[in-house]
Amino acid sequence: MADINEQTVLGALGNVKDPISGNDIVSAGMVRGLQMKDGHVAFAIEVDPEQGPKMEPLRKEAEKTVHALDGVLTATVVLTAEKAQQPAEPAPQPTSPGSTGAAPQPTGNALPGVASIIAVASGKGGVGKSTTAVNLALGLAAAGKKVGLMDADIYGPSMPRMMGITGQPVSNDGKNLEAMENYGIKVMSIGFLVEDDTPMIWRGPMVQSALEQMMRDVNWGELDVLVVDMPPGTGDAQLTMAQRVPLTGAIIVSTPQDIALLDARKGLNMFRKVDVPVFGIIENMSYFTCPHCGERSEIFAHGGAREEADRLGCDFLGEIPLDIEIRVTSDGGSPIVVSQPDGEHAKSYKSIALEVAGKIETTLAQQEADAPKIVIQ
Ligand code: ADP
Repeated sequence: MADINEQTVLGALGNVKDPISGNDIVSAGMVRGLQMKDGHVAFAIEVDPEQGPKMEPLRKEAEKTVHALDGVLTATVVLTAEKAQQPAEPAPQPTSPGSTGAAPQPTGNALPGVASIIAVASGKGGVGKSTTAVNLALGLAAAGKKVGLMDADIYGPSMPRMMGITGQPVSNDGKNLEAMENYGIKVMSIGFLVEDDTPMIWRGPMVQSALEQMMRDVNWGELDVLVVDMPPGTGDAQLTMAQRVPLTGAIIVSTPQDIALLDARKGLNMFRKVDVPVFGIIENMSYFTCPHCGERSEIFAHGGAREEADRLGCDFLGEIPLDIEIRVTSDGGSPIVVSQPDGEHAKSYKSIALEVAGKIETTLAQQEADAPKIVIQ
């Protein structure tokens, strides 16, 4: 098998033309972040955000061109709109390598057919955010809602595994991807689109574009609620996402440890800064019930999240214990809300889901009441 190198890839891409300017995408400087490892090639094509949806054929052509090269096993190409949107073109290049590029739009456009979008966030990784998102989504579905689940954690996508879904999404219309589905929930994750061993190369602004594109280019169908499993942390990428995606509300997952609580506070402030209502805090790994004797032990300072929620003036949505069953079921692809639907833990998730459903309704009603009314005289 031939060794693939940057020159060969760029050489081939030199034949791919930008349909708008007519220039090839390499000399037009549109190829960004080219990475290759063991025959896996990934890069982004930078496009004008306005033209985004129309550039899909270009993305496909670039992907096909690189994939056809000798020595290439997979080619992953995403469109990115990294530059700030300018009132008049052409938009200038970001001035410094550290520049975050895009000036975020105040609010993104709604997704057609999707009545509400909620973000599940955490101040840091490993607190059980994805596990909570998945069980919450299943709890909402159990309450009769039409639910979608979007895995926005593009560095460590876990939804394919947690939802027990393998394979790749198809496109019926050649434009949008059909969401994958299991347990009555529509799911999309970058994990479906890249090989397991493909390096995740995204930098801040590219993360944003890739996520937005992934979310908008999916046929979600009619949904009551789309649950977004946010990337962990409260950095620029999360902030921009919170700003650009039309969120109805946000939920913060935290463990009781003090340090995590400080992080939870950052998450809360982030959403407040961009005027997204925070529905409340869920305390995960809140206490431990011994699987043998049933005794309950408080491993960390249990109850910290409830106190913190009080202090911060936001609601406490509930607590979920640390239980190996929660881990085994979600890591094994049949989360506890579907695998043990009548158990204690499923009940806890379902009751949190009902509270969240109520908050979604109230927020939507409020937004409608606040919307400017047009009176025609
Ligand atoms: P995050 O999304 O915050 O990084 P995950 O949801 O991936 O965290 O959880 C990290 C690990 O902890 C996973 O293996 C998951 O199964 C486990 N886990 C999450 N919540 C619980 C819980 N309440 N009890 C036991 N294990 C849990």
